[in-house]
Amino acid sequence: MDLRAVRGDITQVDVDVVVNAANPGLLGGGGVDGAIHAAGGPSILAECRAVKERLPGGRLPRGQAVATTAGRLPARWVVHTAGPIWSASRDLSEVLRSCYVESLRVADGLGARTVAFPAISAGIYGWPLSDAARQAVIAVRSASVEHVQEVRFVLFSDEALAAFEAALTG
Ligand code: ADP
Repeated sequence: MDLRAVRGDITQVDVDVVVNAANPGLLGGGGVDGAIHAAGGPSILAECRAVKERLPGGRLPRGQAVATTAGRLPARWVVHTAGPIWSASRDLSEVLRSCYVESLRVADGLGARTVAFPAISAGIYGWPLSDAARQAVIAVRSASVEHVQEVRFVLFSDEALAAFEAALTG
C-alpha cells in the first residue's frame, strides 16, 4: 500500500472509498460528516438509516465501520466509522486504530483500490492531532488488504497536513 498525505476537502477527491468520521447514531453531524452528507446528497442518509436499522440498538460501535454508496460524491462508496472521543484518563488509541483497520477491511471487501481518510477523532472528538496522525499511520500500516493500493490522508488544514507528514516520515 502506498500511503500519502495531502491537503484538501475529502468530499472532492476522486477515489473509490471516502471514509467518513461519523458518530454511532449514523444520522449525520458536524465537521467532515456534515460536509460529506451535504456534498453527497440525501441518498447517503437514506442508506445510513437502512444500515442503522440492522445494527443492534441502532448504533454503530466506536471502532467499527459500515459502507453506503456515495451519492453525488466523486467516490463510489462512503465507509462510515465512529471514532472514540478523546479521553485524557483512558487510553482509547486501540479504538482509534480499529477505525482505520475496520474501514480498510470494509473498503477492501468492496474491491476498492484507493481509499481517502480524514483525521478521524481529531476534530469535534478532540484527539490531539499529532497522536491522531501517529495512530492513523500505525493502523494503516498494520492492515492487510487484497485490493487497496493507495491510502490518501486528506487533511483540512496545514497543521493537520504537517502532523500526518511527520507521522509518515517519523
Ligand atoms: P470527529 O468527530 O471524528 O473529531 P470531525 O469531522 O469533527 O470528526 O473532524 C475530523 C477531522 O476532519 C478534523 O481534522 C477536521 O478539520 C476535518 N475535516 C472537516 N471537514 C473536512 C473535509 N471536508 N475534508 C477533510 N477533512 C475535513
